[in-house]
Amino acid sequence: MSALISVKNLTRVFDVSKPWLNRVIERKPKAFLTAVSDVSFEVPENSVYALVGESGSGKSTIGKIIVGLVPPTSGSVEVNGVDLSASKNTADIARVRSDIQMIFQDPYASLNPRWRVRDIIAEPVTVLGGETEGLAERLLEQVGLSAADAHEYPHEFSGGQRQRLCIARALASEPKMIVCDEPTSALDVSVQAQVLNLMSDLREEFGLTYLFISHDLTVVQHVADMIGVLYLGSLVEEAPRDTLFSTPKHPYTRMLFDAAPRMDGFGREVDPPKGEIPDPINPPSGCTFHPRCPLAVDRCRTERPEMRRIGETRVSCHMAE
Ligand code: SF4
Repeated sequence: MSALISVKNLTRVFDVSKPWLNRVIERKPKAFLTAVSDVSFEVPENSVYALVGESGSGKSTIGKIIVGLVPPTSGSVEVNGVDLSASKNTADIARVRSDIQMIFQDPYASLNPRWRVRDIIAEPVTVLGGETEGLAERLLEQVGLSAADAHEYPHEFSGGQRQRLCIARALASEPKMIVCDEPTSALDVSVQAQVLNLMSDLREEFGLTYLFISHDLTVVQHVADMIGVLYLGSLVEEAPRDTLFSTPKHPYTRMLFDAAPRMDGFGREVDPPKGEIPDPINPPSGCTFHPRCPLAVDRCRTERPEMRRIGETRVSCHMAE
């Protein structure tokens, strides 16, 4: 399978300094937060790639960079071989951008409450000057709602139905890929399953590719082909789903597993992640996971582990074997 998205050495640094006068009075230097650090991965066409990690791991920032909401500080994102940061051809960039849509965690906040559903769904096509006659009605039926719902406003729908509206809008411009940022975490468990099943059906029907961003390994286990685990802005492990779940190699991945409730683990105690996530403005030296790692040795405190391949897994840990 060829790569639809190729992310290379992606880094994003935010300037989080206090205003100049405060810094002068308090004698403080500028402060920078590295939200994403040297992340590389590929998403093959018609596959589901999941990015997993606790909050602050940089997963949402990567999603926003890929859809063009946030520019990278360095590194590149190639979509179908077109490097979005290097290309000067605005027509090329606009075409590639319309191939990627995004759905967000809070389906209510991402729908304009003053617009009718028909206008919300058709908007991505309207801005491109395309034909929208009957489009919203058709897409509403494809996501399991009724064509008559096109006249309604978002507040007349439940949380799960609103996420279906967001999916319908994302499909309007016939994208190749949808970036899903925690698409089910605001929904009840039973509704989560319905939305995940719908996404899976749509993937088959439209040949879609998903980048699925989640903190929840149990959700990811149901949808992903490939999983990348992020910690403090860095990719620490990447493997096909079954390999990751059967033989996790990074201590952080194992910690996430112990914290996740499992369908087959009835009666098993859930072990919450240990330790605090370090301050990303002053990250630990060497391996940034070393203050929380049960396997840490002296080398881990001074030497940042390189990403290396062991079988089907890519992992950055000195002790991965
Ligand atoms: Fe733990 Fe060291 Fe591996 Fe980091 S490199 S995850 S501290 S064993």
